[in-house]
Amino acid sequence: MNAIEPPPPRAAEPPLGLILELTHRCPLQCPYCSNPLELARASAELDTAAWCAVMEQGAALGALQVHFTGGEPMARKDLPALVRRAAELGLYSNLITSGVLLDPVSIAVLVEAGIDHIQLSFQDIEAEAGDDVAGLRGAHARKLQAAELIKSSGLPLTLNFVIQRRNAERVPRMLALAEELGAGRIEIAHVQYYGWGLRNRAALLPSRAQLDFTTEVVEAARVRLKGRMVIDYVVPDYYARRPKACMGGWARREMVITPTGKAMPCHAADSLPGFAFASVTDTSLAEIWRADPAFLRFRGTDWMPEPCQSCDRREIDWGGCRCQAFAMTGDPARTDPACALSPDHALMQAVAFERPEIAPPYVYRRIGAAEPAEAPVAAAD
Ligand code: SF4
Ligand code: SF4
Repeated sequence: MNAIEPPPPRAAEPPLGLILELTHRCPLQCPYCSNPLELARASAELDTAAWCAVMEQGAALGALQVHFTGGEPMARKDLPALVRRAAELGLYSNLITSGVLLDPVSIAVLVEAGIDHIQLSFQDIEAEAGDDVAGLRGAHARKLQAAELIKSSGLPLTLNFVIQRRNAERVPRMLALAEELGAGRIEIAHVQYYGWGLRNRAALLPSRAQLDFTTEVVEAARVRLKGRMVIDYVVPDYYARRPKACMGGWARREMVITPTGKAMPCHAADSLPGFAFASVTDTSLAEIWRADPAFLRFRGTDWMPEPCQSCDRREIDWGGCRCQAFAMTGDPARTDPACALSPDHALMQAVAFERPEIAPPYVYRRIGAAEPAEAPVAAAD
């Protein structure tokens, strides 16, 4: 082999899961939505046949799970058909929903189609505060109804609460609701600061004291509820000393497909400059997973700079998040600044240090939104 010839692409294990962002449409307008600031319009979405082809190719590649997400995946009228195809292919299907479009008929249809699991997201435990975050009056009440419907359908129920500076003190009540509903799992997930979350960081980032409080509450609940309810806990990186293994490592476990068919290693990868992500409309999933330059770019450890390259955690956290490295330093190939060993860690600390005492208004997630807007904008019915 020529000395300057690049090494052949590393063989990859198959993806564990396919994350299908069926649509960016959503009746809610959460200011921390992980969707990009530029939202795709309905007319640009993949059609039913294209989504089925993605699942067929994913199953052939070895994927075991499919996550239907969005936006609000229930805004797609063909969701039951997609669930049915996933079941036929033997894929474990998970619906990630805000619940506001769920009713007795639609849940019966989804159960009949073969859905395996539903994850229901909440903005808060208090109706008014939750509706304020969602930008939709009546949303919280609908979510409570959705939780009851899921429970009575016999499907496993996971509740997801998104934590930020305006609701961190209410985590004990969120856990109590999950217990009362008999949920098998609850996610207490602090906002992750990408997409709209990054745009709204000053309005959402909790204080160190708030984070410590939620951690204590979760740790105590894990002991108390052991064997009855699983509690997943996700913290914000701004007070961390080590980063998270974002997506389980770049292009190692999951594949995200956007509403228009772009295949990416994570939800926020489109924010990175210089990447041309392939489309499932003209390239096979297997080819993308095994050989697409964007998937190979940060897979494994060869790409890592110091201090990651010689660190014994490099196959634990995989150097953290590429999108966060880019957002903070302008270079996606740097060590995630969430790591205290990163030369850029001070940038992360400065954000926490400069967090405003008074939270500014939210910028709601809307097509074309640019300026802050206060208060819910519409009623749910
Ligand atoms: S985070 Fe909120 S706005 Fe974004 S898709 Fe979920 S429910 Fe809709
Ligand atoms: S130096 Fe790199 S591999 Fe080591 S803990 Fe920090 S981010 Fe992880």
